[in-house]
Amino acid sequence: MAEETARKSGFMSWYFQSNLLVRILIGLVLGAIVGLAAGSSILWVKPFGDVFIRLLRMIVVPVIFFSLVVGAASLSPSKLGRVGVKIFIYYMLTTVVAVIFGLISANIFRPGTGLDLSAGQAAGKALTQPKIIDTLLAIIPVNPIESLAKGDVLPIIFFAIIFGISLSFLAQSRDERVSGGAAAVLKFFDGAAEAMYSIVRGVMQYAPIGVFALIAVVFAQQGSKALGPLGMVTLTVYLALVAHLLITYGVALKIYGLKFSRFLAGAKEAMLTAFVTRSSSATLPITMRNAEENLGVPRSIGSFTLPLGATINMDGTAIYQGVCALFVAFAIGQSLDFGAQMTIIITATLASIGAAGVPGAGVIMLLMVLNSVGLEVKEGSAIAMAYAMILGIDAILDMGRTCLNITGDLAGTAIVAKTEKAIDLEKWA
Ligand code: ASP
Repeated sequence: MAEETARKSGFMSWYFQSNLLVRILIGLVLGAIVGLAAGSSILWVKPFGDVFIRLLRMIVVPVIFFSLVVGAASLSPSKLGRVGVKIFIYYMLTTVVAVIFGLISANIFRPGTGLDLSAGQAAGKALTQPKIIDTLLAIIPVNPIESLAKGDVLPIIFFAIIFGISLSFLAQSRDERVSGGAAAVLKFFDGAAEAMYSIVRGVMQYAPIGVFALIAVVFAQQGSKALGPLGMVTLTVYLALVAHLLITYGVALKIYGLKFSRFLAGAKEAMLTAFVTRSSSATLPITMRNAEENLGVPRSIGSFTLPLGATINMDGTAIYQGVCALFVAFAIGQSLDFGAQMTIIITATLASIGAAGVPGAGVIMLLMVLNSVGLEVKEGSAIAMAYAMILGIDAILDMGRTCLNITGDLAGTAIVAKTEKAIDLEKWA
């Protein structure tokens, strides 16, 4: 309370009292203008943006771990299983739809046509994909502490769920020593999770400054390029992103009786943060807080579905890969037939699952998608030139796709919570 008063009457009171989102938006717009106008002379602000990203990344692992242990403890294993199956189906279905949106958009706008980078004839090379069984086995951590230290989300989720379930099981033990101990541990985790959320709130107060710096740097380095010859790719990607947002999520939420406008209002802070940080995983603390505080999703569900989504559900990335694969083909004067586009649907879905929630992950995974349709990026080839062009504006495309990535996680989480009758509908009124 004393702190509150100090804030209100302190010399920065105008800052803390004005609307946070408005402040962030001002940071965003100013950052873009200053970045474009000042060019590389503004690059010294970079550390201010890095501070924001580091603060967010600092709390990702503790937020996931503490809240998921508490969350798993409060759900019965069968309910947890049901939520898991539902969210998985939603994540997969929407990703496939997303690639299709990307392909439709690229077939309409045909970005890259006329660039005529001399057709480099690349022979398609067979893909060497990691073995699926190894990927699945890696979900079980051999050393949970190591997974926490490395920030490997899937093993952390696995361990936290088992840990939470066993605590809740023990808390009902007849032996008082055991039940008391388990209850105390759960209480400890609950308190720790609360503390993490309160740190998130504090970090957001710094967001406007961090946002300004992050955006200024991106626009100083890449802004003018995205407006130039690559404008068509940028436009194609962004139109598909918006179409997926409005149509896929809009319709899906409506089917389950959830208002789209309320959804956007509740998700906007996380959407903006994803846009500027270009990282689903760094945005996770905000995504989780928005789900709980604004969308009325219980922590028991959001603490499970959102970290999972930030790791495997990337609709924006899938769209981007669909568009960029066609861009590369058009740019070297080729077109991809129906069969090749079907292949893209499969590989872009897999690539988006495999992409990590960090800036620029999608452009690396794009190599795999290109490979799958015989567009191998070889040094000095026309394909490599087209790929390099994409690379040049990747940050601009990454902002939009990351924003859609976490929006998809939130929409799915709200829908699953609704089907479980666990959502607080007052927040949607
Ligand atoms: N930056 C994206 C994310 O964090 C991944 C990507 O590069 O596509 O969701």
